Amino acid sequence: MTSRFTGKVVLISGGGSGIGRAGALAFAREGATVVVAGRNADPLRETVDLIEAEGGRAGAVTADVSSSRDVARLVTTTVERHGGLHIAFNNAGVFEAGPLADMDEAAWDHLIAVNLTGVFLSMKHQIAHMRVNGGGVIVNTASNLGAHMRLPFLGAYAASKAAVSALSRAAARECIGQGIRINAISPGPVDTTMSLRPGESEDARTERMKDALPIGRVGTLAEAASAVLWLASPEAGFTVGHDLVIDGGATA
Ligand code: ADP
Repeated sequence: MTSRFTGKVVLISGGGSGIGRAGALAFAREGATVVVAGRNADPLRETVDLIEAEGGRAGAVTADVSSSRDVARLVTTTVERHGGLHIAFNNAGVFEAGPLADMDEAAWDHLIAVNLTGVFLSMKHQIAHMRVNGGGVIVNTASNLGAHMRLPFLGAYAASKAAVSALSRAAARECIGQGIRINAISPGPVDTTMSLRPGESEDARTERMKDALPIGRVGTLAEAASAVLWLASPEAGFTVGHDLVIDGGATA
């Protein structure tokens, strides 16, 4: 087994489920100390337990990524407890679909606050630390529904995620001279609750994906996590401001 991240401290928001948890397990298996963050303590604790059961090192911090104060505390706590912050995977997000005319302003504000402002605040505090502490690597979770395709009933989500792509690429150019390498991933439907329609079973999703995606299936969590690890690894050292689409050909 390779250990590309021995000695590294990795901070992952949305680390209590989905791609965040899969990334946390994968980073820990390759030697990293992982800090998972999110709003609710229980799923974060489960991720930590899973990592520790495999002999890995992990900690959990509850934080709302749409709160600047929470995100500042998250970075400070990570550094104080684990001695540094080398890699950040800003993956917390919420999903919302429906006709724009029926979307109330509070739902819009929440979506933008978590998906876009959350990435801004995360990078703001991470960059402030990394630029005076030897640099670092940041990977942000955008979506193939953002900058890469246009679907009806997903305008608000698409706008929030297209903005994450744009913010990531601009930040990448701004920060690479300070030793901070920034990229994004744009997943399509992967095996998370986010890819299930309201009330849809996993079997029903499997049937729907046969026609909906060129590859005929959702992506696995491992397929998404491995892309994040590659972007965060020294092997991707020349990859700056890339938005890596992982979507089974949906936007090809
Ligand atoms: P995916 O793994 O595809 O990103 P999930 O829905 O499983 O999809 O993960 C999104 C994660 O973001 C969840 O763990 C969720 O709890 C987290 N999250 C959502 N809103 C916030 C928030 N305001 N602050 C921190 N974490 C959040």
